[in-house]
Amino acid sequence: MSAQIINGTQLSQKLRADVAARAAQLTARGKQPGLAVILVGDSPASQVYVRNKVKACEDNGIHSVFEKYDAALTEADLLGRIAALNADPAIHGILVQLPLPPHIDAHKVIEAIAAEKDVDGFHISNAGLLMTGQPLFRPCTPYGVMKMLESIAYPVRGAHAVIVGASNIVGKPQSMLLLQAGATVTICNSKTRDLGLHTRQADILVVATGKRNIVTADMIKPGAVVIDVGMNRDDEGKLCGDVDFANAKEVAGYITPVPGGVGPMTITMLLVNTIEAAERTL
Ligand code: NAP
Repeated sequence: MSAQIINGTQLSQKLRADVAARAAQLTARGKQPGLAVILVGDSPASQVYVRNKVKACEDNGIHSVFEKYDAALTEADLLGRIAALNADPAIHGILVQLPLPPHIDAHKVIEAIAAEKDVDGFHISNAGLLMTGQPLFRPCTPYGVMKMLESIAYPVRGAHAVIVGASNIVGKPQSMLLLQAGATVTICNSKTRDLGLHTRQADILVVATGKRNIVTADMIKPGAVVIDVGMNRDDEGKLCGDVDFANAKEVAGYITPVPGGVGPMTITMLLVNTIEAAERTL
């Protein structure tokens, strides 16, 4: 039997309607939520991501400021811009699109963002708050995955969740959110010896490696929820995930497509985090 598709585009539309309503309420109280997005350099992929984020703000009543800088921008100048945005009461969220050019220390830049405006949730104090179970901001992609599980009313408590990928922006925060929701969590990385041994035990399988087809149908427990975070290009240049979707959907109980799965949810949760940041200033 074919898996049920968790449609991230549809779920996003529902959540964005709530964002727009909350943004309108804030605006009526004289506090329109504001997000600043900073892009350094000309990476075509980053330009697309940033454009989508800015457009999503505009479509949902969030004021957005887009600052684009040449790749030669100095670290000191970038830190200066962040200091100005930290002090700007019209800005509730600051996002610096990663990756940054190699002469800029991304850690230093993220730590320079005021923690209460760190809507990506990457600041070290927000990572610590998440780890100790008192999150201020949940990183957007893992937060979106939790909303997808919620949308199918999946009983996360007691389930075995296996996460393939252990990055600071996806795998690690995802493990924390699932652990806090009561799952038993296994995290795999590139050194994991027998990946399939782990993935076959997963009730919830989250895959975030950037390696196309790293998870095939034989690595999935029948009926499992499979969440594909990966974004790759296939041989024809079309967007695809990390999971062999065509075959995996015949084994999984639920599965997310790429495109139209986790991607739109990530942007939606950025909007949600910006609203939460603005509401906290009331
Ligand atoms: P990343 O920083 O490159 O991390 C990749 C992780 O995958 C690392 O922990 C790495 O292990 C692990 N890995 C690599 N090969 C593996 C293997 N053979 N077996 C098991 N684990 C392996 O990537 P990321 O930033 O987390 O992103 C991952 C993917 O998600 C990318 O395709 C990215 O474009 C996509 N993404 C999508 C969204 C979205 O909104 N849809 C958001 C963020 C990211 P080590 O730790 O051992 O190196």
